[in-house]
Order: sequence, then C-alpha cells, then structure tokens
Amino acid sequence: MLMNRRQFLSISGATACMAACSPQALATQSLTRVPQQNAATALKAMRHLSQQRSRMLGYPINMTTPPDEFFAWRNELAAVGFNQFAFNNVGNPYDHSHIPFNCHPFEKELIDRFGAVYGFAPDNIWGFLTNSGTDSNMHGLYMGRTILKSRTGVMPKIYFTREAHYSIQILRDLLHLDWVVVGTRPDGSMDANDLERQLNANPNHPALVVATIGTTFKGAIDPVDAIQAKLKHRTAYLHLDAALFGGYLPHTAFAADLRHNVSNPVSKTELKRYDSIAVSCHKFFGFPSPAGLFITTRANFEAFRTPFSQIHDPEYIQQVPGTITCSRDAVKPAEFYFFSSESAFARQAADAKAMLDNTAYLLKEMNNHYSYLRPVRANDRSNTVYFITPSKAIVDHYSLATMQLDIDGERTPCAHVVVMPHAKKEILDRFLTDLRKS
Ligand SMILES: *Cc1c(COP(=O)(O)O)cnc(C)c1O
Repeated sequence: MLMNRRQFLSISGATACMAACSPQALATQSLTRVPQQNAATALKAMRHLSQQRSRMLGYPINMTTPPDEFFAWRNELAAVGFNQFAFNNVGNPYDHSHIPFNCHPFEKELIDRFGAVYGFAPDNIWGFLTNSGTDSNMHGLYMGRTILKSRTGVMPKIYFTREAHYSIQILRDLLHLDWVVVGTRPDGSMDANDLERQLNANPNHPALVVATIGTTFKGAIDPVDAIQAKLKHRTAYLHLDAALFGGYLPHTAFAADLRHNVSNPVSKTELKRYDSIAVSCHKFFGFPSPAGLFITTRANFEAFRTPFSQIHDPEYIQQVPGTITCSRDAVKPAEFYFFSSESAFARQAADAKAMLDNTAYLLKEMNNHYSYLRPVRANDRSNTVYFITPSKAIVDHYSLATMQLDIDGERTPCAHVVVMPHAKKEILDRFLTDLRKS
C-alpha cells in the first residue's frame, strides 16, 4: 500500500525536507531532471580531456584518434545494424552458428590475419576477440589448465614471475592454481635456470607457464626459447602475455620474438614456440575501448573442446563455444576488423618505428640531463623507460605510474614513461623541460 506524503514524513521524521519536498519544488524538480543536470555538469568537466590526453605518459594506452576511415567503417557497420540493435557473437567464430545476428565472419578473418602476423600456420589457428588482455589471459590459462588436467588427471601448477601483470595473480586465484614463483634476472625477465629448478622441484604436476613479453612496469621480455627448452619432455602449456608488446613487435625487426612457429631446415619440421597468446587491442593499436586478441592453435582448441564439452552442456546453442563467456560483443570484432588490413598493418609499422625511435631519444636525453634519476630501458624492444620518481607535480601532470623498486639494494620509489604513439617528440621534450623545472 502506498503511503501519502504526510504519513511518510511522520514516520521518517524528515520535517527538514518539507521545503525541498513542497508541491512547488516537486513540480519543478521532476525525477528525470536531476540526473540530466548532473550529466551536463559531468560532461562539461570532461571537455578538457581531449586536450589533456597527449600528456598521458604513464600507462600503455595509445591516446591517438583512429583515422577517418575507421569512423567511415563504423558508419558502414551501423548501416547494416551494428550498434543499432542486438547483435551478439555468442559461440565459436570458426563454427557454424544458427543465429545469424553476429559478425563471426569478421571475427574469424581478423583472428586468421593476426594469426598470420604471429606466424601461426594458416590451417592451424583458432581464437576470438575478447573483452581485454585480462580476458585473453583468462582464456589462455583456462585452456591450458583444462588440457593439462585432462591429459594427466592432475591439476597443473602455474609458473610466473613477480614481474608478471597483476591480472595473472587474480586469475591464479580464480582458477585455484598453486603459484610456483619463478625468479628473475636483473632486467626483470624470467630466469630460465630458476624455472628449471622449480620444475624439478614439482615433478608430479604438469606445468602451466606464463611468459610475459613486455612486463608491465619494466618492459622486460621473458626468454621464450630458453623457457621452451626447459619444458621439453615435460607436460606443459606455455601462454604468452604480450598485452602491449604483442601489438607492435611483429612490425619491427624483432618480429621473430613472437613467431609461433620456427621451422627446422634440417628435419623440415615446424616447431611451436608457445601455445597461446594474449594481446590488448586498446594499448598499441589505439582501439577506442578495451578489447583483446586471444589466439591459439586449432589443435589446442580441439584438445580443449572435448573436456570443455563435458564441463558444460552445450546443447542449448547447438555447438561447443570454446569461450567462457556466453554472450559476446559483436560490435568490437566488427570494428577491430579495421585494424587487420594491409594498410592498417602499414600504419602500425610506422607507429612502431616512431615509438621505438622516441623511446631511444627519451632515454638518451634522460641520461644526458637527468642521470641522477637512473633511467633504465630494459631492452631495445621496449617502449618503457623507468627512473627514480620525480616530483608529485610531474607524476600527477603526466599520469605516471609509480612503484617501489630495488635500486642498489634499497627500496626506491620509481616511475615510468611508456612511449605510446601519441607521445611524440614534442610531448617528450615538454616532459623533459618540466623535469628540469621541478
Ligand atoms: C595491460 C596488461 C595486461 C592487462 O590487459 P588489459 O587489457 O588491461 O586487461 C596484462 N598483461 C600485461 C603485461 C599488461 O601490460
């Protein structure tokens, strides 16, 4: 039963509200009007963001606006209904779907194209567009756990270093896996000899290993071939977390770092270097909202499909989707398809070159003028320079990420600059000038 206003006020005792709740006030302040005012105020406060974005130097997000052709492609997609009514990519993009409102053909094509970029054999690619790098990591670890468990009957242990992204720590907990902490070399990359020691100490469990190609704070690269050599003759699954570096390395002289296959010219066989790879779409590529690539082999997908189909009942959608999430965004794969064309790859190559050149420039200038900040670039593939934290004003102005690192045996507050495509030379020069002033 609804109570009238007087009854409400008498039990709430909110007589002070009388004036605000007067009939006149209620008449002018309709329920919808208050949020509208808030929205206008919030929007007004956001107007500065577009100018501020070029000085966002602390996190690996490409803040440039995609080219006009991207927005033209968006309009073409809208013309057939994308983002206008309910499309949904539920299911496996490589399988037939009896629900036509999806963009599976685009999704499959873009995964095949990126699979080729990473050197997967053309007839041995499977994957899909995920919600983020974390989501891609989740699918890699879940697939690895499921395959290893079904092959051996034993839950694997998970191996990664303390330099891995925090999403791996969360996923380890989610997947109930024991963490075998692998030590690092001085540059922050995985120590393959320590990996071997840890593998030997855990002989009764298969190994789910996460190698990071571009660690989040230092930009270190775990040595894939040395890791793979330690995994030889063991039951193991190797997932690559290449959230940031995975976007640009294929377009540089270091493309071989991420190649899935290497051929042995003597035995004429193909050797796989890893099982699956995760790459964020909003980091290097500058896709305007979070998404991720998850790519693995067709063979891994098939090994996963059988145990996965026993974990859930796939009857309802008439196929085994291969994805943890059921409903999936159809707009993002259709839009991200734009980033998989030959001309998009050419733009990515130009961005990759400029980024690495600008990173070398930043390091040189910091060494010349601010060597007391002890700037470090972990390797020549990295677009990250870290150093002793400058003033709080600089940290705030440039949205720098900070972290305590060991320098000469002492915990020292450090910050890093990630040189993304928007961090052009002029922006870096301004940053260097501001460092002097501070
Ligand atoms: C950013 C990052 C992630 C997480 O990716 P999201 O797309 O933000 O979910 C994972 N691993 C590494 C190494 C990263 O840099």
